[in-house]
Amino acid sequence: MRRPLVAGNWKMNGTRSSVAALVDGIKAGIDGVTAEVVVCPAYVFLDQVRAALAGGPIGLGAQDVCDRDEGAFTGEVSGPMLAESGCNWVIVGHSERRQYYAESDALVAAKFAAARRAGLTPILCVGETLEEREAGRTEQVVERQLAAVAEHNGAAAFAEGVIAYEPVWAIGTGKTASPEQAQAVHAFVRDWLRARAGAAVAEAVRILYGGSVKGANAAELFAQPDIDGGLIGGASLKAEEFLTICRAAA
Ligand code: PEP
Repeated sequence: MRRPLVAGNWKMNGTRSSVAALVDGIKAGIDGVTAEVVVCPAYVFLDQVRAALAGGPIGLGAQDVCDRDEGAFTGEVSGPMLAESGCNWVIVGHSERRQYYAESDALVAAKFAAARRAGLTPILCVGETLEEREAGRTEQVVERQLAAVAEHNGAAAFAEGVIAYEPVWAIGTGKTASPEQAQAVHAFVRDWLRARAGAAVAEAVRILYGGSVKGANAAELFAQPDIDGGLIGGASLKAEEFLTICRAAA
């Protein structure tokens, strides 16, 4: 049985005071939520959020990690630094990193490895653009992104991570994949895992859906057999909306 997981990606949003209010709001409503819940603030708020979450059930993640562990890499943040800051999770390969910062499949695979070296659970994002979907290339693109990680880390490494299927055309656009569209890709990912890493890994790995998930559409997405929760952007910035999504992942 896979425990549902809901992770909030706060992106480059917030101030110290708005982050404090958001964490307080989520903490106030977390009792009774059975899903595992993680929040991913910007680096500069990690320490503040770690302190606010201490002793509670909500996990802490970062939004990115350097593929190297230390050295002359100006502006980067390493896995050991994130671990020391209290993170247990890190998002790798978010489409905004792939699109705006030209992160290649190979770099994302190296970041997945860096996360594991530091004892962090990578949340690996995969997904196609609208153009790729319309060209009938969704599975090909997702398979390419997964294969790069398998080549670098070995397919068994997926057992130590989480996969988030995030169609690029659904992120921050208000357009959500239908439950059937999302389930089809999730089933494809699980079949791919079964073929590459074996049935035990395929059945154990959580595959999240991300892309304009809201309180109003979360339950029908999470009801799909291969959708094990969500990676939530915009809606994770509102405590009540995020909690509604968390409660839908029962
Ligand atoms: C995301 O950034 O991972 C995401 C899913 O964003 P949104 O929920 O805003 O579409």
